[in-house]
Amino acid sequence: MKLSRGRSQVAIPGPSIIPDRVLNAMHQAAPDIYGAELMSMTDGIYRDLRRVARTAGEVIVYLGNGHAAWEAALSNLLAPGDRALFVSTGRFTHGWAEMARGLGIAVDLLEFGFRSDVDAAVLTERLRADAAHGYRAVLLVQTDTASAVSNDIPAVRAALDAAGHPALLMVDCVASLGCERFDMDAWGVDVMVAAGQKGLMVPPGLAFTFHGPKADAARVPCRSPYWDWKPRLDPVVFYKRFCGTPPTHHLFGLRVALDMLLEEEGLEAAWARHRVFAETIWAAVEHWGQDGDLELNIEDRAKRSAAVTAIRTGPGDAKRLRAWCSDAGLTLGVGFVAPDADGDSMFRIGHMGHNSPPMILGALATIEAGLGALGIPHRPGGVVAAAAVIAAAQEADRGPPLSLI
Ligand SMILES: *Cc1c(COP(=O)(O)O)cnc(C)c1O
Repeated sequence: MKLSRGRSQVAIPGPSIIPDRVLNAMHQAAPDIYGAELMSMTDGIYRDLRRVARTAGEVIVYLGNGHAAWEAALSNLLAPGDRALFVSTGRFTHGWAEMARGLGIAVDLLEFGFRSDVDAAVLTERLRADAAHGYRAVLLVQTDTASAVSNDIPAVRAALDAAGHPALLMVDCVASLGCERFDMDAWGVDVMVAAGQKGLMVPPGLAFTFHGPKADAARVPCRSPYWDWKPRLDPVVFYKRFCGTPPTHHLFGLRVALDMLLEEEGLEAAWARHRVFAETIWAAVEHWGQDGDLELNIEDRAKRSAAVTAIRTGPGDAKRLRAWCSDAGLTLGVGFVAPDADGDSMFRIGHMGHNSPPMILGALATIEAGLGALGIPHRPGGVVAAAAVIAAAQEADRGPPLSLI
């Protein structure tokens, strides 16, 4: 029986749900791209993006996705033959490293596997061993969207400092910006890359790089005129800021999304809300997992992302569950192939951006219905456990709801 006639829901880790207000803001005729209105709106967007990243440094906006941001940052800071250390805790640093290889950068990989975060002491040792300071940059993700681990960026900064290593610290916040605490300047991050379609709630198509003074001083001649920061930082005319036509309608949408995030909700409140939704999902999965095979990929809750959750299942169960939920109107994230699991035995729930208790609880209830319908062993009652987390957070009334903030 086909039941899904209302709104369907994507609970994938990007693109995330686009608020109606953002969509509506985009629904307008093309603007004058040489007009003062668009220019002043763009100035405001650049200012507010810095507020989201918590940096007094520079932001560059590209028409592009997360991969574009990766390539842009690499192209401005690393020349062919330069060495860089890519620190991996899942899948996404590998993607960034592959791109670097393609650009002729000498890539070294420090691998922490699929189920844990960066071990800062190991990183310090690795950097100490590089006594000649051959690495020009250390690169990693804050949240790895495949493993759903969240790395402790201040601890990584401390690891570089402890080793006395001058490499640039470059962090991918594509999945986490606007969802998890990030404080670029206070944390000593030199470069951060992000994209619009996850925590920033706009359709795919915007890429961002942020960089501070140390990165500015470390720039190399950029071989790609399109990625080059220089003309975009100091545009002689407005259209140079985007190396051509601005992403007009994405900017309209982003303007509204930034207002929602910074003015209406507040960044700290958004981080706290993401944390509550993450804990809601963990409560359900931990409850289900008391019987059967369901299990959170990251065991230590202090190391779990607030933006995405990766869940392991028995062989093939994730694939069947995703198909069942899809028929019911809920799209779950695909699992990545981990060293010890295939993609059919893991699924992910994206809980970044524009979510509410009925959306999160509805997704969990749909999953629990699917587990029952498919006969996947689990302890029933995960949704009740999840509801209790929401109830406690609502009761705590806007203060930090749980001990984990
Ligand atoms: C989604 C994501 C990317 C890639 O973004 P695309 O827009 O798909 O190119 C990179 N890094 C992280 C951490 C991501 O979550």
